[in-house]
Amino acid sequence: MTDRSVPRAVRLTRPLAREVVKEVAKRYGVCIRPVAFQRLDTRTGRTEIVDVPCGATLESACPPCAKRNRQLRMAQCREGWHLDHEPASTPNEPNEEQRRLVEFRADVHAQQEAAGRAGQDSTGLDILAEGLDEEITKAGMRGHVTGRTTGRRVRSTRRRQDAPDLPKRKMAATTLGRTFTAPDGRVYRPSMFITLTLPSYGKVRDGVPLDPDTYDYRRAARDALHFSKLIDRFVQNLRRVAGYDVQYFATVEPQQRLAPHLHMAIRGTLPRAELKQIIAATYHQVWWPPTDTIRFEGVHLPLWQDGVGYLDPDTGEVLPTWDQALDQLDADDDAQPLHVVGFGEQHNIQSVLAGTPAAGKWLGYLTKYLTKSLADPLDAATDDQARRDHAARLVEALRFEPCSPTCANWLRYGIQPKNAKPGMQPGRCRGKAHKPGHLGYAGRRVLVSRKWSNKTLAEHRQDRRTWVLEALGHPDQPTDPHRYIWKPLPAGDANVPPLAVRLLRTVAERQRWRAHMNRLEQDLSAIGEEAA
Ligand SMILES: [Zn+2]
Ligand SMILES: [Zn+2]
Repeated sequence: MTDRSVPRAVRLTRPLAREVVKEVAKRYGVCIRPVAFQRLDTRTGRTEIVDVPCGATLESACPPCAKRNRQLRMAQCREGWHLDHEPASTPNEPNEEQRRLVEFRADVHAQQEAAGRAGQDSTGLDILAEGLDEEITKAGMRGHVTGRTTGRRVRSTRRRQDAPDLPKRKMAATTLGRTFTAPDGRVYRPSMFITLTLPSYGKVRDGVPLDPDTYDYRRAARDALHFSKLIDRFVQNLRRVAGYDVQYFATVEPQQRLAPHLHMAIRGTLPRAELKQIIAATYHQVWWPPTDTIRFEGVHLPLWQDGVGYLDPDTGEVLPTWDQALDQLDADDDAQPLHVVGFGEQHNIQSVLAGTPAAGKWLGYLTKYLTKSLADPLDAATDDQARRDHAARLVEALRFEPCSPTCANWLRYGIQPKNAKPGMQPGRCRGKAHKPGHLGYAGRRVLVSRKWSNKTLAEHRQDRRTWVLEALGHPDQPTDPHRYIWKPLPAGDANVPPLAVRLLRTVAERQRWRAHMNRLEQDLSAIGEEAA
């Protein structure tokens, strides 16, 4: 409320009440961008408005949620790195309830995709999906329901990625690394930490190209776009050479020069020389149609016709669809891949023993930037015009690069994007990869193999919840997944109280918890003293 008795100049120096509430919320680790849901309790018939932390969707978490997610990731990373027993288990047949949950989840997934295609905000759906994933996990199912979302195209053998020339061991049915026994009988189980980078695009100093005119922005853009595929290849090759089901926990982070690079914790160990060989031999070929010829640009763009697709505005010729373009590529014996991506010369390979200070150091390294976006080194240097110009040039290089088969940019090269729809414009693709905050890399920031700790982040979150509830003296009751029906509320819904009110409520709740935990701790230490 504005106090008119205070002069305006003085009023303006006072912090805004809402900002203060946000600061307080941050200090208590409370989500500052909660998403409101309507929750119907099917047992009582009562409807409530419930806040779900934004951090349930990892990519766009607020600072407190990002921090909590980072702690969960650290726990997850620590748990799998030096495991000495197999984490896998055989799944049971799904029951009726589990099937129903999965069907519901599939439905939400379809809605998410529809929203994505229409360029609509899908935050509410994303959170609903994440919540459902947790329910699915709680209902006793493993893994992620969506997996790969589209059927894979069967390609001719000629187009398969050539297998690199690497030694190949017989596969052992284990996810555990070798152990080494010292002369004194102690058994060591070493693991690894590696860092992989992309090649040089030109000399840089302090993250800025010395000569922007010769710096290969196009290659930098394409490498970033296809970096996640390169990582997949690396893991395939790693497993083939190692001869066991190698497990990893990896994070993709920005380098100063704004190229993505990879930190990876690996369970088990390989000889250094072999690893170097794998890094050098790993590459990924992008078998996409050529983009050498610009057919449409500026105001001269393909026209959409319902039921037909995109046409050449001059001739009325229907442009080849994505599948037709790929068929042409397959039929062309002289075709070259659009792009080939491989790693750079710079890498770092470390052996790590469980429980050593080095293990802790690398763990911190792995999760260091998880609370930041890929463009963050840029934010740290916003006063640096040279770096901003460098980033702008990279974003410009990404502008007309196709980021995926569904990218609107394919129209520029005379091809209808996969799932073409009206209103697509080259240079206006909404794909994450083109955005300044992503700099070409639209993949996941954290990559965890399936048998790392055999737990999803949701399960690690559940572990923590169970631990806190037990400490508070309330054993965690397994919840009936069908008790509640959740519905996302649109932003600005009249039933949702103002943000400040919601934040203050959550802070108050957090304070009560903290006070309780502190009392508990005091009681425990008092008992300890009595016993002594
Ligand atoms: Zn949040
Ligand atoms: Zn795109």
